[in-house]
Amino acid sequence: MRILGVIIDDGLNGLAHISHVGEKMSEILNGLTIAKSRRGLSGRVLKVLYKRAIERILVYAAPAWWTGSVSQITKITSVQRKVLLAVTGAFRTTSTIALQVASGIEPIDLICERERVMYLVKHRAPFITFLGVGLDILNIDLYVESWKHPSSIPPVQWDKNSNNPTPAIYTDGSKLDGHVRAAFCVFGNDVSGEFQYHLQDHCSVFQAELLAIQQALHWKKANLPSDTCHVYTDSMSSLKALQKLKAENNLVESVRDQLDPTVQLHWVKAHVGFAGNEAADKAADSACAKDRVDIHLGAPFNSFRTMIRQKILEAWQNKWDDVNEKIGRFTHRIFTKVETNRCIVDRYVIQAVINHGLCPFYLKKFNLQDCNCQCGEDSQDGTPHFILWCPQVQHLRKFLAWIMSIPGLMPGMDIIQAISDSRGIQEIRTILSFVFQRQMDLFEDNI
Ligand SMILES: [Zn+2]
Repeated sequence: MRILGVIIDDGLNGLAHISHVGEKMSEILNGLTIAKSRRGLSGRVLKVLYKRAIERILVYAAPAWWTGSVSQITKITSVQRKVLLAVTGAFRTTSTIALQVASGIEPIDLICERERVMYLVKHRAPFITFLGVGLDILNIDLYVESWKHPSSIPPVQWDKNSNNPTPAIYTDGSKLDGHVRAAFCVFGNDVSGEFQYHLQDHCSVFQAELLAIQQALHWKKANLPSDTCHVYTDSMSSLKALQKLKAENNLVESVRDQLDPTVQLHWVKAHVGFAGNEAADKAADSACAKDRVDIHLGAPFNSFRTMIRQKILEAWQNKWDDVNEKIGRFTHRIFTKVETNRCIVDRYVIQAVINHGLCPFYLKKFNLQDCNCQCGEDSQDGTPHFILWCPQVQHLRKFLAWIMSIPGLMPGMDIIQAISDSRGIQEIRTILSFVFQRQMDLFEDNI
């Protein structure tokens, strides 16, 4: 049965849905693989397409079907594996975990888990766990949907005029050394004043800027209800947020609710010696001298997103560092840290970092041929043997020979050095394709 794109079967274990998206993804991937081999679509672009589009298909409605069971993890990982192979161009025998690390693509099970948690947080579930650990979510500033009809939201106007009559209110928010403060200064003929607020450290500058405007408007309503006031801010992002139809932010809506024709908003350039703006800036600075927090705001949702991203990296790193893990250890010596910026898409470089290339080590491992390198210098005969020290291909090494002359280079570091320079990469390509073409001359069968 299919409901809103989610396949539900009698087992209710989500496996039918994963099979369905797996088939859908295979079709897309077939097209992309053809584009890669025939049209020169790069693995790097394929990775972006995966992260932006294909991954979204894989995790679509994950909160509805993802339970994190072992069978779900196995199944969805095998679907992701196809993408990893296409992105990296690695041998089909390469382990999934090494592919994830080399391509900088997070394990899909962690992404599904993230989708589930994000959904629960947005829907205010009382107790939420991420990978079995409880999360503190009480402090998050969640948007409370106001259900206003778009036509009932008056357009917000602002300009860059700076020479306006009084009364003028300058607002400012800032975050310095982890301290967040907001302030506003009033300049008028009969009234003037300076108001400061110390916010919690988890607040953002954006929150502080909006809070300063919000408090300024509160003050205006209480003290100068019928006067036309000019409110200044140097925060373009706040002004733009106020103009958005769907702000989805509590502070933005609160400010918007207080705007009326007696309030005129202006933008001023910060730190150019504008007296009012400087005064507000100074007032905000002095707010942090107070220990007491004046206004409690929840942490912005984005900081929660950052925390989850951090937790995903930690979980991925732990899995990669697992001492019981036997797979991908060669690659682990080269890439000790997992990271999403890494993207090995050259089919020769991937052979170098995974030790899965045409070499006696590989042929023996997969029972394809029992042979050794003719030089007889190394019983392992993996890809590093040819890249770094086999005398049979010495004539192809120049930059790599220089790397090998660096004293005290730890195993793994030599490959890192080689692949972080285009000269090294070029020589790796030349050597590995040479070995591929001349295997009959270079390897000898063990009898
Ligand atoms: Zn050799």
